[in-house]
Amino acid sequence: MSQASYSVQGDIAVVTMNNPPVNGLGLELRRGIVDGLSAALADPAVRAIVLTGAGKAFSGGADIREFNTPKTFAEPNLMTVISLIENASKPVVAAVHSVAMGGGLELALGCHFRVASPGAQIALPEVKLGLLPGAGGTQRLPRVVPFEMAMNMIVTGEPVLSEKFKGTRLFDAIIEGDLIAGAVAFARAAVDGNRGLPRVRDLKVEYPHAEAFTQFAIQTATAVAPRYPAPRKCAEAVGAAATMPFDQGLAFERRCFGELVDTPESRALRHIFFGERAASKIPDVPEDTPLRPIRSAAVIGAGTMGGGIAMNFANAGIPVRLLEVKQEPLERGMATIRRNYENTARKGRLKPEDVEKRMGLITPTLSYQDIADADIVVEAVFEDMPVKEAVFRQLDAVMKPGAILASNTSTLDVDQIAAFTKRPQDVIGTHFFSPANVMRLLEVVRGAKTAKDVLATTLALAKKIRKLGVVSGVCDGFIGNRMIEQYSRQAAYMLEEGATPQQVDRAIERFGFAMGPFRMADLAGNDVGWYIRKRRYLERPDMLYPKIPDKVCELGRFGQKTGAGYYRYETGKRDAIPDPVIEKLIADHRAELGITPRRISDDEIVHRLIFALVNEGARILEEGIALRASDIDMIYLTGYGFPAHVGGPMLYADVCGLYNVVNRMKGFAALGHGDTAFWTPAPLLARLAAEGKGFNG
Ligand code: NAD
Repeated sequence: MSQASYSVQGDIAVVTMNNPPVNGLGLELRRGIVDGLSAALADPAVRAIVLTGAGKAFSGGADIREFNTPKTFAEPNLMTVISLIENASKPVVAAVHSVAMGGGLELALGCHFRVASPGAQIALPEVKLGLLPGAGGTQRLPRVVPFEMAMNMIVTGEPVLSEKFKGTRLFDAIIEGDLIAGAVAFARAAVDGNRGLPRVRDLKVEYPHAEAFTQFAIQTATAVAPRYPAPRKCAEAVGAAATMPFDQGLAFERRCFGELVDTPESRALRHIFFGERAASKIPDVPEDTPLRPIRSAAVIGAGTMGGGIAMNFANAGIPVRLLEVKQEPLERGMATIRRNYENTARKGRLKPEDVEKRMGLITPTLSYQDIADADIVVEAVFEDMPVKEAVFRQLDAVMKPGAILASNTSTLDVDQIAAFTKRPQDVIGTHFFSPANVMRLLEVVRGAKTAKDVLATTLALAKKIRKLGVVSGVCDGFIGNRMIEQYSRQAAYMLEEGATPQQVDRAIERFGFAMGPFRMADLAGNDVGWYIRKRRYLERPDMLYPKIPDKVCELGRFGQKTGAGYYRYETGKRDAIPDPVIEKLIADHRAELGITPRRISDDEIVHRLIFALVNEGARILEEGIALRASDIDMIYLTGYGFPAHVGGPMLYADVCGLYNVVNRMKGFAALGHGDTAFWTPAPLLARLAAEGKGFNG
């Protein structure tokens, strides 16, 4: 069946795009539009054509399901469709409602007239994927709206409401009420009034200082987004609309588009776009799995994490009970939550009445009876198995049947926790990141017995509380922390070999990380890792650890909270100041090991850190702990400050070429210091490298 329907209302044809959910301009729809247009042009009774969209949009642009397939550019491609419309012998009126974005707006710009409902979102958002509008958008939009407005829209990609275009040539009329009836009447009046076949391409950009403004826009884009080429190119292409004849400008736009498609930055942004959507798809869990309703929640433990988790529920309008063993920590937890909300309100990001509304959704309690009817309970008590055991046995005893029992543990075995209950199918890990009310990542840990609907419900809940849920299997540290441990180990080995904390941090921060490993450790608390390592020394005596981190902790230097860690901190400030105490500690440690320090390049620092993530990531993939390479990347982007313009460690490895990655690892092993066996490439990595493939295909 055609994806565009055709009907005739008297002397006006109506072509309606119909490709749910947003009338993405895939090949079938493009064919449908051309067929409708041809039928209208061939019918002598038809004097004009209205082009509109069924359902929730005029058109949201390219059909993302066709991305990276030959269908994207198959004829009739979007440029061809626009050209056919623009050169049609009868006027075509775009009737825009709800959403006209990207290719959808470019299509409308190819029409002779455009009318719109108020409230429609109008945008050319391609820059957000590291691209620019490639079907004439950069050349046509500045011809119908003020130059500065077009520049802004294309460089930022932000939507503007249709009524804001009143008085511009983008819309000939804003139609209140029935859009199609209004558009048909408009089309009829246009023919009756002999308004001809005006084409946007024939208009001139009316702006006296276009070149100067373009230069200003290029400089601003470079300053605001120095790591991304797309905003700059967008500005250049919009500038061309003012300085070049239309066809030349169009060719320039094409050229810029081609350049951008091949940039690693665009590849990274597209990888993120698809990676985020892929994360909620679980191969053995059908998309239509019935979900368990989540109307109420409970959180056990009102500490650092529990408070933030409770806020997430309240922010989403879900009433939540917060349970503690004692009154004092409960009151402290509630006070912290209130302070957080009040700070947000003070910054103007929350209305004062909403502080009360959200506080009103969080009920403190000391009694398990009070939480028995919650649909989900998230445990966030001390990271200690006997404490978890006591809590889960309680939960098993009191919670209503079907309640989801979640644990926020960051290192403990979720299957063992599940086994404390008689309903392991209802148990799941929900690993929030600190601060839990801010960080977007939610690692969803699927236990061996976790029911499919529990997994599906938890992923849906993640969306509801505005998190990105990514599934991990059960292993020590799950995906994110298991990998970061290798990264931290390499960072500490490099201290032994000759680097300083500030050099390591600076190198990786220049690469784009929000924070280097030592500043990060000082922020999170060095004692957290120390506690885990002490457990490991007993459980896994085979694992090698560099000892500088332990020595830092032995001095009581736990980081910012104690005023000193790898750096020192002045009271009330967060600036990391290099500290001679640490320099001496490192020098003494090297002397003890008989190491002569060597100069370590920034390039070595960056690649040892990132490839440590990659090698462990490859093992995690091979073991099935992560479902896909992009899941690992999404975890690093949303939970660990990995730079978005690189797209994640696994994509970075692909961009470097896995053959090169493997070679580099051999070089690191040959340095002969530390855990050299770690640099044996994971079997999956070795295999893909030998086959000339990447993690992402
Ligand atoms: P925390 O020490 O700040 O808070 C724990 C709270 O649990 C305390 O308020 C304590 O009074 C309460 N508690 C202890 N036993 C209890 C019980 N039996 N019943 C009810 N309440 C009890 O610890 P946290 O940092 O919030 O960590 C909580 C959990 O979250 C741990 O499993 C931890 O591994 C995990 N986690 C922590 C972080 C982090 O960055 N802090 C990040 C991810 C996950």
